[in-house]
Amino acid sequence: MAARQNRMILDQCEIPGIRNLAVARRYGAYTALAKALTTMTPDQVVEEITRSGLQGRGGAWFGTGLKWSFMPKEPRVESFLCVNADESEPGTCKDRYLIEKNPHLLLEGVLIACYAIRASTAFIYVRGEMWEGMEVLETAIRELVTANLCGKNILGTGFTINVHVHPGAGAYICGEETALMESLEGKRGYPRNKPPFPAAYGAFGHPTTINNIGTLGYVPWIINHGADAFKGIGDPNFPGTLIYQVSGHVNRPGLYEAELTVTLRDLIDMAGGVRSGHRLKAVIPGGTSMPLLTADDLDTVMSPASFAPRGSLKSGLGSAAVIVLDDTCDMVDVALNMMRFYRHESCGQCTPCREGTKWVCDMIERIHRRRARPGDLEVLEQVLVNVGDIDRFEFNKTICLFGVSFGWPLTMLIRRFRSEFEAAVAESTPAPVPLPVPASVLPAGDLRAP
Ligand code: SF4
Repeated sequence: MAARQNRMILDQCEIPGIRNLAVARRYGAYTALAKALTTMTPDQVVEEITRSGLQGRGGAWFGTGLKWSFMPKEPRVESFLCVNADESEPGTCKDRYLIEKNPHLLLEGVLIACYAIRASTAFIYVRGEMWEGMEVLETAIRELVTANLCGKNILGTGFTINVHVHPGAGAYICGEETALMESLEGKRGYPRNKPPFPAAYGAFGHPTTINNIGTLGYVPWIINHGADAFKGIGDPNFPGTLIYQVSGHVNRPGLYEAELTVTLRDLIDMAGGVRSGHRLKAVIPGGTSMPLLTADDLDTVMSPASFAPRGSLKSGLGSAAVIVLDDTCDMVDVALNMMRFYRHESCGQCTPCREGTKWVCDMIERIHRRRARPGDLEVLEQVLVNVGDIDRFEFNKTICLFGVSFGWPLTMLIRRFRSEFEAAVAESTPAPVPLPVPASVLPAGDLRAP
């Protein structure tokens, strides 16, 4: 029997008028906050979230309670919560929906998280283009302040928390947690070296926890219903639900919420199947930074357990943005589209990433224009191994993961659809190799590529 949705988050978003505080409270909003503030200590909240098994929905699947437990218990300086709502992975579109539809669900999670980690301020970093979402959040925060649910001495408990909405800088890399903090501080969004980790030295040098906004949406439910109830939903190793964003060549693209036992086939069925008259060719399972799957992988359970390093498939669940490609897709075209994006979004700090994205993109452009030179495909594969070998999962060549992983989707694309790339090379009229520039006309130190 086909799996069904479990809409523990999405159903609440569809209640008419739920953006309004009075309506949200009629449906139980902020009861979890009141319970946490009046009957639990911060450590008990952390313990409850840890026992629930809640893991970060931003893609890393790190234990939320464990992350909160890293924060200092008696901070010598103020602590902060940074909320990551900078969704920029191509295909990802759930944060925007959740913010615009049900800001109070997310804000309640933000306030409970602040209490648990003893933070005085929360910064919600929202993708710069999501203006409507920022306005919705600002309005909701004003309602909370008026109702004494945010600001000083919340509900007379002595707990004070300020929440600020911060527009993102419109860069993909600002979704990386340390780049997000740099950007929040008003600087260019460059990822930082780790350590120090944010819990020791985060935003503005203060202890900081960074959580994805989607993760925090589950926190009120856990406080209201208990850790055991949450742990009992779906896969005990990855409890709860996940909002999958299914787009591309399906009949009903949209958001589908299911337990992490759902298969790829179930998700495509939920989305009405591949558009009529066409066959499935490939699926990108978690945003374009995740290597694609094919029709042979339809029975894959869409959980982190299926993907490397935990599982055997060389791909990942990423942001759960499932992009379906039918048989009208040219894979060289798909490769070029992806690589142009990554070339544009490399922040440029690390040589393998800055130079690698450009070289790889130039080569794919040549193949796409049918101007490839003999051997281009082999050289391209060698460059992809050098910048970040998918078979060895090397993580230590660059400051952030972008630099080693941008080539993984392309590597798997070539492996799985090699004949299309070979055909494009075979059809090519090779572009002339540029003549070397005489050394005498180059300024000293010029490392211009041949
Ligand atoms: Fe920037 Fe790329 Fe280095 Fe990450 S790996 S810090 S995106 S240059």
